[in-house]
Amino acid sequence: MSGPNTQYDPVEVAALDPEAIEQAVTDALAAIAAATTLEDLKTVRLAHQGEKSPLALANREIGALPPSAKAEAGKRVGQARGRVGQALKERQAALETERDERILVEEAVDVTVRVPRRPLGARHPISLVSERVEDIFVSMGWEIAEGPELEAEWLNFDALNIGADHPARQEQDTFFVEPAGSGLVLRTHTSPVQVRTMLEHEPPIYVLCPGKVFRTDDLDATHTPVFHQFEGLVVDEGITMAHLKGTLDAFVQRLFGDGIETRLRPNYFPFTEPSAEIDCRCWVCGGSGVLDGQSCRTCGGTGWIELGGSGMVNQRVLRAAGVDTDRYSGFAFGLGIERSLMLRHNVGDMHDIVEGDVRFSQQFGMEI
Ligand SMILES: [Zn+2]
Repeated sequence: MSGPNTQYDPVEVAALDPEAIEQAVTDALAAIAAATTLEDLKTVRLAHQGEKSPLALANREIGALPPSAKAEAGKRVGQARGRVGQALKERQAALETERDERILVEEAVDVTVRVPRRPLGARHPISLVSERVEDIFVSMGWEIAEGPELEAEWLNFDALNIGADHPARQEQDTFFVEPAGSGLVLRTHTSPVQVRTMLEHEPPIYVLCPGKVFRTDDLDATHTPVFHQFEGLVVDEGITMAHLKGTLDAFVQRLFGDGIETRLRPNYFPFTEPSAEIDCRCWVCGGSGVLDGQSCRTCGGTGWIELGGSGMVNQRVLRAAGVDTDRYSGFAFGLGIERSLMLRHNVGDMHDIVEGDVRFSQQFGMEI
């Protein structure tokens, strides 16, 4: 560009010709209107607003005009550039809106479309209770012992001081395995595991035996032919009923909460002598038998709940398992898991526990 030229006639400068400027604006507006995408508009912007566009060229020519002509030419070019700039801005906004709307439609997710979904399962409450009970005893230093569900008749009955004429050995209570005289039964309790433990290990013995047991009951609201028990056995020097009571109290406090205690009521079991039923102070009403002004439904208003059986291991059982009864004594107890579960969670029907409907298990969550 040359410097100011006082002899300069604006009419002769083609780029600043009013008609040329108007034409440049018309061309620009037409191109802007024709741009259908943001990419198109970028090209149009370069052609009509860029450094080499006619209006930019005209703008540069203003510098070469005599001062008298600069104002008018400047105003004309400035207005022209303003119109083009405004049109570009509006078209840019319109195309951006159009693009956003298109994305909303094209990339929309239909949240109502059905998708294959695998429902989450839930641990069965029997498993949860069993593991919780095992944890409590393991934390007290006990070991977990397991044994076969198909058991020798001798271990299931004879070794436990249950004689041949005992009612529990009759066929209406026990599943005997064919052929007759096979000497095998489906274990009716987990007590044979205790005998196995005593036969295999020297005292001191502190074991918990959890597992499935079988009786010939029909499935109804309160009975099932397959259910779960856990039995505890301690054999050591100087073991007394006081150790049994202390162990049970510690256990129920860990399971049901502080302040819960047990009481022992005399009873008879062949396996133990003396024997006692275990009652637990009601964890719902706290032992008062009254809840919200009414008789507590969980304990029937007595303040106590029956948990299971216990006692000092009968010396005949200890001897049958090869334990020196002059040196050692022991206690044992047994509790039913289904019964604890029904009491603790007001499960009214055994069918709910055994049928395996995940909706039943889900209400217990992953922890109870
Ligand atoms: Zn109660």
